[in-house]
Amino acid sequence: MEYQFDLLVVGSGIAGLTFALKAAASGTVAIVTKKDKLETSTNYAQGGIASVLGPDDSFQLHIEDTLNAGDGLCHQDVVDMVVHNGPDRVRELANLGVPFDHGSSQMAPFDLGREGGHTRNRIVHAHDMTGQAVEQVLVAAAEANPNIHIFENHLVLDLIIQHRSLKAGTVTLQHEDVCRGAYVLDSQHEEVHTFLAQAVLLCTGGAGKVYLYTSNPDVAAGDGLAIAYRAGARLANLEFVQFHPTCLYHPQAKNFLISEAVRGEGGRLIDRRGRAFMEHYHPLKDLAFRDVVARAIDTEMKKSGDDCVFLDISHRDAEFIQQRFPNIYQKCLSLGIDITRDPIPVVPAAHYLCGGILTDLQGRTSIENLYAIGECACTGLHGANRLASNSLLEAMVFAHEASLHCSSNMESWRRRSLREIPPCFPTPPKQSSGSGLQSEMVLITHNWDIIRRLMWNYVGIVRTDKRLALAQNHIAQISLEIREHMPNIPLNSDLVELQNLALVAELIIRCAIQRKESRGLHYNLDHPQKDDPNWQRDTVVVKHQTEEFFCASSK
Ligand SMILES: Cc1cc2nc3c(=O)[nH]c(=O)nc-3n(C[C@H](O)[C@H](O)[C@H](O)COP(=O)(O)OP(=O)(O)OC[C@H]3O[C@@H](n4cnc5c(N)ncnc54)[C@H](O)[C@@H]3O)c2cc1C
Repeated sequence: MEYQFDLLVVGSGIAGLTFALKAAASGTVAIVTKKDKLETSTNYAQGGIASVLGPDDSFQLHIEDTLNAGDGLCHQDVVDMVVHNGPDRVRELANLGVPFDHGSSQMAPFDLGREGGHTRNRIVHAHDMTGQAVEQVLVAAAEANPNIHIFENHLVLDLIIQHRSLKAGTVTLQHEDVCRGAYVLDSQHEEVHTFLAQAVLLCTGGAGKVYLYTSNPDVAAGDGLAIAYRAGARLANLEFVQFHPTCLYHPQAKNFLISEAVRGEGGRLIDRRGRAFMEHYHPLKDLAFRDVVARAIDTEMKKSGDDCVFLDISHRDAEFIQQRFPNIYQKCLSLGIDITRDPIPVVPAAHYLCGGILTDLQGRTSIENLYAIGECACTGLHGANRLASNSLLEAMVFAHEASLHCSSNMESWRRRSLREIPPCFPTPPKQSSGSGLQSEMVLITHNWDIIRRLMWNYVGIVRTDKRLALAQNHIAQISLEIREHMPNIPLNSDLVELQNLALVAELIIRCAIQRKESRGLHYNLDHPQKDDPNWQRDTVVVKHQTEEFFCASSK
């Protein structure tokens, strides 16, 4: 089937929904999302949104905190723009109905939490379920908007790219790639559809599933990065993977995060014997930046051989804990841990990808009419390390900017016909006849597991040149295996995600190998110092001319 919309948004998290709601005033919008519409990282965000809303705060302080976290790689113009736009975007969400916790007076309308790396209280939150509150309000608003159509269980395979030659007379001056839509797998009916659009917005979130342990939901397989790379877009800074220091360590807890706000409210990290250890690692102790805390925990666990460390907030008043962290309290209690009395067992886990698809201040990528917003983008805000709670903020601000840009171009875009498009990349995927070599599905599950384990062990919190080189070899072999065997397997979402996962892993390793220094979230024992003269710059990767990808389903 072929669909036509003015705008095609891939992903139903805060980036995709915010953009869609704003852009729907100027045209029709399709949101395709690969699972249930609520299944996003946004929905699991706990801590909140960083913004300058307190009487003792200032834009300058938020800017400085962001730059400090970014360790020399933030783009100052982007930081300025995001920080200055923050309060307006937060108020928009509040006006839409997000039930943020109230402050004590009209002068202080929001209750503001504190998180690691922030020198002021500036985290707007809805108890400890901020993401869920935001997601539900945005989804409800999108569903009520007649110009927005949401397609659940629709997985984008690849973009439709037109190669356009710009000519002056008979001379070709330049080739330009223009995005015209996407091929999309309806995974319930196992059909591939063509979505044509004036512009495509990749809002596909992060890539936490590349690692064995992650706080991210299963949808975070890095699809958007792989899709953009295959189409020829420029990606950057993929070596900067943020490991959240405190994920709940329990056999029955899958990806459950213990929010940074717990340390913000006085929670202390202790070892099995009850000894606090952060004072040995950083003057800010438990409120040090995430990378410092994650490395400290990694070091303590390696030293002691223990499976986890503990986060203790039991010295705070029990009623306060239950009110401030109702979700964490209930979740832990359901697993037999009463956090008002017991320390919480925690381990670090892959949490946030600072790098992504390179964009400008409007969210535009290096391919015309292709935008990237939210966690899949590399805007220049985070640099080498993200300041806590700056990501929801970034997604909202860039969704706003991109919507303004798309709306102002809509009239001129509409003057061209989408159907009159010359040959595109890639050719439309064909469904396999699907006699179904079901027994070969083990290749998918096996390789999926190997990639995630490999990335955890060799490309994790602490890296070395040797481990990175080994990882690169292993991934090359796995990719070869996927290329050789997978075309025989009927098209399905697991296969597509595996291909994307392997590609994203390869790109993270490529970036990590390039950066011969330690900075922000990238820590390499063979190059433990920061090297500003050579490395105060982004690590950019782009597809080689000769690189070929087989289409998931072309048989
Ligand atoms: C547990 C947890 C807690 C967090 N807490 C905070 C916090 O307190 N503050 C903060 O600022 N940040 C926090 N973050 C980070 C923040 O939540 C994310 O960075 C942000 O929500 C990303 O939003 P997004 O819209 O870019 O992506 P997401 O919300 O992840 O949405 C991505 C969407 O893309 C869809 N998708 C992906 N691939 C495809 C495809 N191929 N085809 C179709 N659809 C696709 C997914 O199904 C999903 O709908 C947290 C993250 C996690 C996991």
